[in-house]
Amino acid sequence: MEQRLLGRTGISISPLVYGTLPLGYLQADLSPEEGGRLIRYALERGVTAIDTATLYETYAHVREGLKGYNGEITVITKSHAADPQTARAHVERGLKELEREQLDIVHIHAARIEDPFVERAGVIEEMVKMKSEGKIAHVGLSTHYISAVRKAALHPEIEVVHPLINRTGMGILDGTATEMAAAIKLCSDAGTGVYAMKALAGGNLISEARSSFAYVLGLPGIHGVAVGMLSEKEIAANIALFSGIAPDEECWQELESRTRRLAIMKSFCKGCGNCVDACINGALRMEDGKPVVDETACVLCGYCGAECPEFIIRVV
Ligand code: SF4
Ligand code: SF4
Repeated sequence: MEQRLLGRTGISISPLVYGTLPLGYLQADLSPEEGGRLIRYALERGVTAIDTATLYETYAHVREGLKGYNGEITVITKSHAADPQTARAHVERGLKELEREQLDIVHIHAARIEDPFVERAGVIEEMVKMKSEGKIAHVGLSTHYISAVRKAALHPEIEVVHPLINRTGMGILDGTATEMAAAIKLCSDAGTGVYAMKALAGGNLISEARSSFAYVLGLPGIHGVAVGMLSEKEIAANIALFSGIAPDEECWQELESRTRRLAIMKSFCKGCGNCVDACINGALRMEDGKPVVDETACVLCGYCGAECPEFIIRVV
């Protein structure tokens, strides 16, 4: 697969980045062996970048996928820490559990933080310090906010941004897809590497996956797209699509006919409301003491599940 330069980092990545969120407990909950097998399948066919996060609990899957692998690889993770000490602990944990001497890119995982340059200033400073110590090669920012992407273009310490964009703009917290696209171009023109998330709005655009990927890949300044993949068939189809190979119509029709939804086992729900507070998209509300999802607003990120003390929320 073609490799694209990720801004001024000097790193080249495949435009298809393996997104590991769906492999973990928030979504499909695959074993590390099964998740690792899928990751390895993708690597052996040209994928050269893996996106994970402290929050996803998929380090074991990535470690399995990389076991004995000698090819080029960029491992990207994120820290949702609110303070420098926790950020350092997250990086140390990533190094240990991923069995890496250095993490290639570590994002400030700031999906719901409107101004990470103010609210996470101490964390950014600590990341830059860990970069000087050699624990991190590059510092990045993952965000659902257009304003944060715009601001990142003015902050050279942020070398990579990982913004949410899809052709409907679903999940963008402060504007439209067109405005996010303009902010992405601003970053890329400033030399910042950019790879996107949620090109299919967490599965909501799955029935138009090919055109939705084409929209994001065609935006000026996009170097890659993180895509969560759960089968060899899906990986092979995406590799072909991202390589510009004519798609297998039958295979894509099958992939585009899948449905995904948020499943809440309400009979075990204690009614604490944590999930409602966790949803930055306003897609959950309490009714008669139980959460109800608005499927028109839910981007199937699974973050509500991470806050549920009963572990009863999953994207299926
Ligand atoms: S309801 Fe849950 S999965 Fe849906 S957008 Fe909100 S946090 Fe994400
Ligand atoms: S976080 Fe879990 S237990 Fe609490 S209201 Fe939501 S589903 Fe129920």
